[in-house]
Amino acid sequence: MSDRPGAARGPGPASIGEWLQHARSAGLARLDAQVLLAHHLGRPRAWLLAHDDDALPPGLAEPLEVDLARRTAGVPLAHLVGSREFHGLALNVSADVLVPRPETELLVDWALELAPHAPLPRLVDLGTGSGAIALAFKHRAPAFDVVATDLSGPALAVARENGRRLDLPVTWLAGSWWQPLAGQRFGLAVSNPPYVADGDPHLPSLEHEPGLALVGGPDGLDALRCIVATAGAHLAAGGWLLLEHGFDQAHAVAALLRAAGFVDTGTRADLAGSPRVTGGRWPVG
Ligand code: GLN
Repeated sequence: MSDRPGAARGPGPASIGEWLQHARSAGLARLDAQVLLAHHLGRPRAWLLAHDDDALPPGLAEPLEVDLARRTAGVPLAHLVGSREFHGLALNVSADVLVPRPETELLVDWALELAPHAPLPRLVDLGTGSGAIALAFKHRAPAFDVVATDLSGPALAVARENGRRLDLPVTWLAGSWWQPLAGQRFGLAVSNPPYVADGDPHLPSLEHEPGLALVGGPDGLDALRCIVATAGAHLAAGGWLLLEHGFDQAHAVAALLRAAGFVDTGTRADLAGSPRVTGGRWPVG
């Protein structure tokens, strides 16, 4: 590290390359360091590669140091840069919503596969958060009427703004699960509800995201039970319900679906090999 004479704040990383090295030494993953620096510079990440020796612009060292400390304290990168890519869409996120996870793209892909076979071209996303699932689906299946609900007003504001900015028309409704949908039926219903059990040892690492989006009661299944219980009143005959869940909940979710009258239940694994989404079909006749 060079100590440039006359530098107001003493020694510190002076160039792009030195800052990246500094962030790595502080414990940041290479990609996180690059994304954070590119965000502060207002440049694409690829730009950094060709500008390793460029001086850090004056005034950036301090805000970068603040974000570096927040990131090493566990604040999600998506909160620091304000956005996260999901299924090819750049979504704004805030502390009011769950950061969209790559494994949830599986739920979107499955819904897109079923779309041509759905008895009605209508999809509902229950507990939409940032709007990730609803927007990714609408982007790829524009002929579908897409509706999304969320109990959280601040989350719904994030989702609505994402829809407006991406120019994807989705109907956003405030309320718990199916509650704002009296009398409405759908060909496809999807949800990534809170499914982490109270007291789960990995909850502390999720402390920067809303508990409402994460914690699902003593066994993590409270929200899943609630969604399955009234699903039949809102699905067209032959319609599908697809639910994301924890790595060890596939059997429980399939059992809930069968007990409620669903048929053709099945589970798909995420890229890490964990059973992640379980679905079933509301019977015809
Ligand atoms: N997949 C998230 C996690 O365990 C939980 C998301 C959820 O509860 N829907 O980090």
